[in-house]
Amino acid sequence: MHKNFKNIEKIVYGRGAFNQMDDILDPIRTRNDNFFVFVVDAYFEGKELATRIPVRPEDVLLFIDVDPKEPTTDQIDELRDSVMASKGLPSGIVGIGGGSIMDIAKASSLMFTNEGTSPQYQGLDLIKNEGIYHLGVPTISGTGAECSMTAVLSGPEKKLGLKCEYTVFNQVILDPELTVSVPRNKWFYTAMDTFIHCVESKCGINYNIYSKAYGDTALELCKEVFLGDNSGQNTEIDEKLMMASLFGGLSLTYSEVGACHSLSYGLSVVLGMKHCYANCIAFKHLKEFYGDYVADFEKMIAHHNIELPQNLSKDWTEEQITQMAEVSINLPFMWRHAIGEDWENKWGLEDIKALYRRM
Ligand code: NAD
Ligand code: ZN
Repeated sequence: MHKNFKNIEKIVYGRGAFNQMDDILDPIRTRNDNFFVFVVDAYFEGKELATRIPVRPEDVLLFIDVDPKEPTTDQIDELRDSVMASKGLPSGIVGIGGGSIMDIAKASSLMFTNEGTSPQYQGLDLIKNEGIYHLGVPTISGTGAECSMTAVLSGPEKKLGLKCEYTVFNQVILDPELTVSVPRNKWFYTAMDTFIHCVESKCGINYNIYSKAYGDTALELCKEVFLGDNSGQNTEIDEKLMMASLFGGLSLTYSEVGACHSLSYGLSVVLGMKHCYANCIAFKHLKEFYGDYVADFEKMIAHHNIELPQNLSKDWTEEQITQMAEVSINLPFMWRHAIGEDWENKWGLEDIKALYRRM
């Protein structure tokens, strides 16, 4: 069976596109109890962008600090419960920020219309009802969370997405002006997520021409972003990277991620490492999976003077390494993609532990 992939319903792209938000939301305001919820990365509180958010007196504006932890199931359920108790059912929700805020907006949209708590819905196609209207505005490029069918949450038992057609945004506003303030290290690690999405999508059995069409374009853009004459953070690169993020996400959606993301999940769950940073920690050690792309990665790291820590595993206990390997092996679709149909005959917990010991 081929995937029946749901794409974003509407996209507006270009410098200054953010200013179109009020017009876009206006016709939606007649829905439900006639107000919008805006969830915005706390970085923007008090900044010029915050004054341009088209908030009306009836709306709810929440600034959320995403740095202490990745989005949790509790956080989503509390947000839903407090808004429902004070104002009722929103017309829609708008997320303005990075991958974390994209996931908070997507997951909340679903939990406003589905009973119970969000851990019940962590998995594929468990959501029963379509969510409320949701609009995403990425302010940092790389994760592809703006286009994916999943909203990744850490719950009491697992880190897993609410994954279904309804998760996908109704509208995305891609305005490259918004990423200008991203600090250099965060810029690099998050941007690298899209490079890794393209490489992993390519190096595995689910790869196909649909994934290639998006992935090759994104890889070309990544080369210019990281290694071109005009590489680094600037106006032209911000535009290219925003499209690379979208295309990398579309490439992987129709293929799969592989060894690197599987190991990265272990690092995030057990050590609390951030997704994009954890990918970089793992990718460097995966030459047998990703060949020359690892050499390209090394060049990019050197070109941008990024210092990745070495020998982290010397401080990890045997128990932590085993826990991480267990998280990783419980993502069989990633290992199947990376190694092949018969991956279980070729690969096991000890092989994964050996990879963690290299880090
Ligand atoms: P993030 O949302 O965690 O933000 C990273 C940092 O960048 C934060 O400190 C934030 O305040 C800051 N930031 C964002 N925009 C900024 C700007 N314009 N100027 C200054 N600072 C800015 O970052 P991320 O790396 O985009 O997302 C990581 C999250 O995304 C993880 O929770 C991960 O699980 C999730 N993710 C989801 C998907 C998906 O498909 N749903 C895919 C990959 C990752
Ligand atoms: Zn990723």
